[in-house]
Amino acid sequence: MPSPTTIWRATILTLFPEMFPGPLGVSLAGRALSSGLWALEARDIRDSATDRHRSVDDTPAGGGPGMVLRADVLAAAIDAADTASEVARHRPRLLMSPRGRPLTQSQVAELAAGPGPLIVCGRFEGIDERVIGARGLEEVSIGDYVLSGGELAAMVLIDACVRLLPGVMGKQESGTDESFSEGLLEYPQYTRPQTFEGQPIPEILLSGDHARVAAWRRAESEALTRARRPDLWAARPNQAPSPKSRQNRPKNTTDG
Ligand code: SAH
Repeated sequence: MPSPTTIWRATILTLFPEMFPGPLGVSLAGRALSSGLWALEARDIRDSATDRHRSVDDTPAGGGPGMVLRADVLAAAIDAADTASEVARHRPRLLMSPRGRPLTQSQVAELAAGPGPLIVCGRFEGIDERVIGARGLEEVSIGDYVLSGGELAAMVLIDACVRLLPGVMGKQESGTDESFSEGLLEYPQYTRPQTFEGQPIPEILLSGDHARVAAWRRAESEALTRARRPDLWAARPNQAPSPKSRQNRPKNTTDG
């Protein structure tokens, strides 16, 4: 078991700490959490409020609907979380935000390899812009849609990281041979029964010929990626376009 100082730790700043661990407390992530393979700390932003009413938000400057989380309260909450240790001061500081860089598997792998992030969860209309720069927050989005708060987004990010931590998944390779690990979507998977509603498992998978199975899986991965995610297909590292994709390419485009 890793020592308490090196353990991967996610620190969440939220107005709803009771939402954690939530779904992170069950199955793979939950078992790893209770066996000490990672740690989770949910801190209440409201504990850093200074006025009588413990207020954390106010109306938007310039008008408009809703409320905005105050920069001073949020900065105090971040500073309080950072006093814990030297490691805490140097970890990535993320803000879950629909305006952020879309989360990818390679960013997840990078975060999983580090000490674990501090994650700020917004609510209402979001947070005061000034604290983003003042505390070096990196905005991360989980997709082009708007949630009511950053907590579910933070859980998505943490779940994706935790399954890559050493010892969390049964077999180490189950984290490397799957969707996005090589810029490709995963090949189709099958298990018993051998025939389901008239559909047999592809014969090649029962052949016991590992090389043929690997070649089949690779071809399926490539075909799926090309069909469903032309953006991923085009962005694969070190790949010359195949003759087929060159033919299909619209005129007047250049290699990027
Ligand atoms: N008014 C803001 C949205 C606020 S939603 C805007 O239009 O950009 C409230 C909070 O939910 C945000 O501060 C953020 O923390 C979280 N959130 C909403 N959608 C998200 C997404 N797609 N990815 C990550 N966090 C998100």
